Amino acid sequence: MEKKYDDQDTSHIFNLIGQYTDLTLILNAVSEWLESRIPHALVTIMLYSEQEQVLKLFSGQKHFSDQYCTTIDGLKIGPHQGTCGTAAFSRKLVVSSNLMEDPNWASYRALVDAEQLASCWSAPIISATGILYGTFATYYRSSTIPTEANIKLLQQAVALVALAIELKDERQKRLAMSEKYSSFYTYHPDIIFELDMQGHILNTNIACCKITGFSEEQIQGQHYCAFIPAEYHEMVNSAFEDALQGKAQYYEIPIYNASGEILWLDLTNLPVIQNQKVTGVFGIGRDITSRRKNKENLRLLKRGVDASPNGIFITDASEEMLMVYVNPAFLNLTGYTEQEVIGQSCNFLQGFDTDLEQILLLKQAVIERKEIQVTLKNYCKDGSWFWSRLTLGPVLDKEGKCTHFLGIQEDITQQRIHEEYIEHQHSHDYLTGLPNQKAFELFLEQSLETQHDSLPPLTLFYIDLDDFKSLNDSLGHQVGDQILKSVAERLQNFLTEGDFLSRFAEDEFALLMSGPPDQKSVIAVAEKILDLLSQLFQVDHHQIHLSASIGIGVNNASIQRSSDLLYQSVWAMKEAKKQGRNTWQCYKESHHNVSPEIDYAHLRLELREAIQKKQFNVFYQPLIHPSTGRVKGVEALIRWCHPERGYIFPDVFIPLAERTGQIVAIGQWVLEKACLDIAAWNQQHSTDLTVSVNISPLQFGRTGFLEGLKHVLELSQLPPELLKIEITEGVIITGAERTVEILKSVRALGVQVSIDDFGTGYSSLSYLRRLPISQIKLDRSFIEELTINNQDAAIVQSIINLAHQLNLEVVAEGVETLKQASLLYQQGCDLLQGYFYAKPAPITDLKLIYTALEN
Ligand code: C2E
Ligand code: CA
Ligand code: CA
Repeated sequence: MEKKYDDQDTSHIFNLIGQYTDLTLILNAVSEWLESRIPHALVTIMLYSEQEQVLKLFSGQKHFSDQYCTTIDGLKIGPHQGTCGTAAFSRKLVVSSNLMEDPNWASYRALVDAEQLASCWSAPIISATGILYGTFATYYRSSTIPTEANIKLLQQAVALVALAIELKDERQKRLAMSEKYSSFYTYHPDIIFELDMQGHILNTNIACCKITGFSEEQIQGQHYCAFIPAEYHEMVNSAFEDALQGKAQYYEIPIYNASGEILWLDLTNLPVIQNQKVTGVFGIGRDITSRRKNKENLRLLKRGVDASPNGIFITDASEEMLMVYVNPAFLNLTGYTEQEVIGQSCNFLQGFDTDLEQILLLKQAVIERKEIQVTLKNYCKDGSWFWSRLTLGPVLDKEGKCTHFLGIQEDITQQRIHEEYIEHQHSHDYLTGLPNQKAFELFLEQSLETQHDSLPPLTLFYIDLDDFKSLNDSLGHQVGDQILKSVAERLQNFLTEGDFLSRFAEDEFALLMSGPPDQKSVIAVAEKILDLLSQLFQVDHHQIHLSASIGIGVNNASIQRSSDLLYQSVWAMKEAKKQGRNTWQCYKESHHNVSPEIDYAHLRLELREAIQKKQFNVFYQPLIHPSTGRVKGVEALIRWCHPERGYIFPDVFIPLAERTGQIVAIGQWVLEKACLDIAAWNQQHSTDLTVSVNISPLQFGRTGFLEGLKHVLELSQLPPELLKIEITEGVIITGAERTVEILKSVRALGVQVSIDDFGTGYSSLSYLRRLPISQIKLDRSFIEELTINNQDAAIVQSIINLAHQLNLEVVAEGVETLKQASLLYQQGCDLLQGYFYAKPAPITDLKLIYTALEN
């Protein structure tokens, strides 16, 4: 029996312990083993609960009653706590040979008695490190004392139990530790891997597979270099070596993922140290691919911003919008340094002449946190300026709050100049540089819109160069262009501020003036312009004389639209042309508004009837030599004796006859009648009175006029030198060359030419020099004012003087008073005509002699 439970017998217990068998089984095996070695021993194991500081019955219950088990379970540690409590307390073997007498059992006697227990030996179970695990006790139903061998066995059992518990505890601790470690390793969101001493991957975590896309099998056993681009091997190798030397390493490294793409890791290498020896290397890698991408993007962005030719700036979102960033182009553009700019309010480039409208737009957009584009004039540090097209927009954070403003400035000065140039091209004439028609019309419209009563009226001078086309044709366009340029220059030099001159069309200029206060000043301007243009033009070797016809329109109540004023001045210009050019003409309402309702067809009929039915008559008004009072000649003045309306005066029907064209026939009739009448008169009275016949411009310009003239002379046998034809200045100048030809032919016939109404259209006599004329008739308007207006007297005097220098006879018509007659006589006027002497009257009333004026 002894042999059976020798050393070998505990080997099965060791095996159980070594196999991590459940502690209960091991302790039962120890109990059984001891009970077999010590006869009658009832083994009881109590384990110490550190938490409750009591002993808890672990095994041996089968030996006792339930009541007993309950009582001793949770036994306190301390003196007199039975054998076990005392053993645990004293940490020594306690032998209670007689429980009924043992003081340690004093409080449990009844229980022991009932349970029929006599003795107990208990040994504390203590670990190698001194930790109390519990007690190991043997009870006996008789009073016994252990032998040496018993004690040895007991100690052996206690040692086995302690070992089993200790190993179990340790294993539990280890397991817990490795679980913690493994969950840390496994579930860490960064890549974690372990390398052996050669750099082969031993294991990895879930994140590694997730991030790289490789399975664990694909990774395990591989050398780390398999995942790293070749150009980084050297760097990683040296980091690996350093880690093997026990030094932790940190670096960024690109690796390939399963798709062959590059991932960037922020990598930490740590040595794995076991038993104070490095056994491998841990790697912890954080995926920073997107961070790097952002960083790279940011780098690119910064490079882009830095390299942008446009000035870029960022301001904060404060009210002053302080500059926090500017790119080099901004500094280049403005000439400031970064230190000078940062911290400034972003309006620091603006000057005194900032476009307020644009600034308001900008401010509004800033308030509304909207993007805006404005054009501003920006000043550089050196005071120079540039046009900046500024695009400003808010920079928002994740919550949509504006944190900054981003501004992009583009220097559009060149573009602006170009635009202005184009704009100028559109609105200006390339040749003269003057505003063109479009610009003039716009200006006229705006001027009329802003015009009001307190301002002087606007006057439009429409200037058309006379005969410019033939000049162009004969001298060539280049010369023509030069002349136009010179004309523009002369006119421009004459302008004062506020005047607006344009080249309206080819050889037509329009001048708008606000200022000339009365008609006299307006006329003075027109005269001045004519004078300016009459001065010799020198182009290359050509010397060119020019004249112009000026139409004048004044802004008055009749003007509704700007086009009205333009129309009126153009109309007046055409009138001026009709009057013989080189003159000006004001627009006259009466001129133009010949009642359009007149039934011309009816009138034509009436006029023809008047001719046929001899309703016309010719009256004669004498022209008197003032010093002698003798009649030198007469003027033939037509009269219409209308059967219903009575006498109709020529002022009324001549213009109408001109419109219907019947003036030609009527004029021819007057011519015949006058020549016949005077020829007869002269013959009868042995006189050589002259007869002046008014010739309408239309009649004069007609082919056949000369023939008619010849015919009349033949018919009447009136000596041609006694016939004078009266034409207005306008006739002479309209159709210039041809008129001169006709006049020459008229003169060749011996007939004389008189300029009627002289002084109304044109004040310069110089042009008459080259014309074959013999007489001028001062307009009645001069004579009217003569004695009351010194200026008119002076004009008349100078006209008379000049006319005499040119060998022209001067007639004053409309002489109504002696005063006028006397003055005119004193001034040297050759002949006088007017009511003072005689009214027009039938030939039969003609007297030959009137009052002679005293010198
Ligand atoms: P005119 O050629 O200037 O003729 C002179 C006008 O002055 C005439 O008017 C004459 O009666 C008027 N007159 C003469 N002395 C005085 C005076 O002292 N005071 C005033 N207030 N008036 C005076 P009349 O006869 O009514 O003729 C008007 C115009 O009709 C003429 O102006 C002429 O242009 C045109 N006319 C007259 N007869 C003819 C004609 O046979 N053929 C053409 N083509 N036109 C004619
Ligand atoms: Ca006349
Ligand atoms: Ca007249």
